[in-house]
Amino acid sequence: MHNTEELEKIRKKLSKELTPKRFDHTLGVAYCACSMAMAQGYDFEKALFAGLLHDCAKCMDVEKQLKLCKKYGIDLTKAELESPALIHAKLGAGVARHQYGIEDEEILSAIRWHTTGRPDMSLLEKIVYVADYIEPARKNIPYLEEIRQLSFRDIDEAVKLELKSCLEFLNSKNANIDPITQETYDYYVGMQREKIDD
Ligand code: FE
Ligand code: FE
Repeated sequence: MHNTEELEKIRKKLSKELTPKRFDHTLGVAYCACSMAMAQGYDFEKALFAGLLHDCAKCMDVEKQLKLCKKYGIDLTKAELESPALIHAKLGAGVARHQYGIEDEEILSAIRWHTTGRPDMSLLEKIVYVADYIEPARKNIPYLEEIRQLSFRDIDEAVKLELKSCLEFLNSKNANIDPITQETYDYYVGMQREKIDD
């Protein structure tokens, strides 16, 4: 099947699976990811697939999420069990594979890591991670305008500032923080130091 038809099919299925608000967010992420891919000379259709599917497991209730994790053999960490909102990233990759027929590991991995990030992300992982934060419907987020500008100029800087924004927000709420988010921030801060030392 041609990619355009495939994308259309996925869009239709998602419009039924997601709430209207989540579906709007999804389209915003898909087109932001597509634009960022274009700016980087990266395969923009892959960015569209990953952007469209990144939240495909987000609107399921926790019970269904846990059931599907079992079905697909997805192990959950302590952090994910304590903050079930994190589950949809890992499960999303499983749902994209098993229910949407995605086989491209790069796309699946971008879905997998879109919530927490991880150290040394691939370009597509960074694109989806940042697109999720900057899409047009987002508002009232610290540093949002800076992150939006940086995302097309220096994606590593955009990733770093997004992590800082997330960590500050989670800390202010005294929320559970998945340790990998802090590890990712430390990694990108370290990377910037290396650049300066060069
Ligand atoms: Fe998400
Ligand atoms: Fe999202």
